[in-house]
Amino acid sequence: MFFILNILWIGQITCYHYVYFYSGKSLELRLYNTLSRTIEIFKPIDASNIKMYVCGPTVYDRAHIGNARPAIVFDVLYRLLQVMYENVTYVRNITDVDDKIYKRATEQNISINELTQQTIQMYHDDMSALNILSPTIEPKATEHIEDIIAFIQILLDEDKAYISNDHVYFDVTSFNHYGKLSNKKTEELSSGARISISEHKRNPLDFVLWKPKSSQFNIGWESPFGIGRPGWHIECSAMAKKYLGDVFDIHGGGIDLVFPHHENEIAQSCSVSKLDRMANYWIHNGHVTLNNSKMSKSEGNFVTIHELLKQYDGEVIRLALLMTQYAAPINFNTQLLQQAKAVLDKWYTQAKHDNTCTTLSADVFSSLCNNLNTPSAITALHSAFLKQPEIATYTARTLLGILNKTQDEWFKTNNTIDTEWIEDMIKKRNNARKNKDYIMADKIRQELINEGIIIEDTQSGTIWKRK
Ligand SMILES: [Zn+2]
Repeated sequence: MFFILNILWIGQITCYHYVYFYSGKSLELRLYNTLSRTIEIFKPIDASNIKMYVCGPTVYDRAHIGNARPAIVFDVLYRLLQVMYENVTYVRNITDVDDKIYKRATEQNISINELTQQTIQMYHDDMSALNILSPTIEPKATEHIEDIIAFIQILLDEDKAYISNDHVYFDVTSFNHYGKLSNKKTEELSSGARISISEHKRNPLDFVLWKPKSSQFNIGWESPFGIGRPGWHIECSAMAKKYLGDVFDIHGGGIDLVFPHHENEIAQSCSVSKLDRMANYWIHNGHVTLNNSKMSKSEGNFVTIHELLKQYDGEVIRLALLMTQYAAPINFNTQLLQQAKAVLDKWYTQAKHDNTCTTLSADVFSSLCNNLNTPSAITALHSAFLKQPEIATYTARTLLGILNKTQDEWFKTNNTIDTEWIEDMIKKRNNARKNKDYIMADKIRQELINEGIIIEDTQSGTIWKRK
């Protein structure tokens, strides 16, 4: 049984969870598709199993906040799809074949394997601190070299690729739809900066599928085209085909992957499948800048998730990134984290963890169905916490991946309620009472209650505690 979109009545409906909603709200999932450049109603290929592929990390260094964003955005989409459909197969790959990896391993004088294992472990630790659900399958490029070689062989057999100077290149002129995703003509693309120039390529846009073993790095696999290693783009096409088939529902990643990476994936995959598309919906998250400038590891302008986690709870980082709709750019800064923290402090004060509650707030749900509008979902949660705290808590956990701790756990590790401020307020209230200004005294008490602080007047003075 899958989610019933058309039934509307006031009360509760059954999908995998209960969605509490008001009549007239659309519960169809709408997503902006980079391919059509419009917001489309999501129509699955097979509603009993939704298939999604998202490009994962290249494992040579700790992930930064720019890497956290796609992981979080697609985690929210994954959660939403899981609520709506019986099965969701979510593939997020690990790129463990890359010259950056070999260079770093050489610099650190450790084996390639040691570096990638360590980095994958660190990535997983960061992801779980951010409450990111594990994908269904997390394939590594090094474990799919045979699939990659077979894929390249088909491209060569079909004359879509050629060998030159011990490299295998994809012949972009063999693919008519090249540039469709980025909505650019090939002439425009070839004048862009993201192309590597080589005299061995027939066309500047041609990209490498297989590189020969380099004298610099001791890594290579046997193949019909010589000992070597795959280029970057080919692994996603080969692994997506293996786990999701020739055409699947959703392909995601950061906006910077549209060209050349996703354009190249489409060219490779459609050339092999002979179909006109690789995925039906291409979803891209906006980029993250740090203090208004582009985040770049080479320029040292980045902040790792690991460093941030020393100062902020994973839920704070998560909410800070979700306060902006996924497609818009984010300028990441401390203020954003403080805002997110203040919201979480408030929600943890209001939260009611009830294990029997399986009802989702319809306002939050429908906000997310509207092209993952997380800012509007957050607004809806604010009012849900006032009206139905159990439902709000359950919804926040299920759909946004926050409020996973108990109140005690949260305030123990996120001790931010300013005790000085509370003591000061109590002093002011006592003064007001002494002056018989009971209106002022009540106002102060209410202000404290709003912050989740209850005060009690005892014989030994006024004491306070958390609600
Ligand atoms: Zn990819």
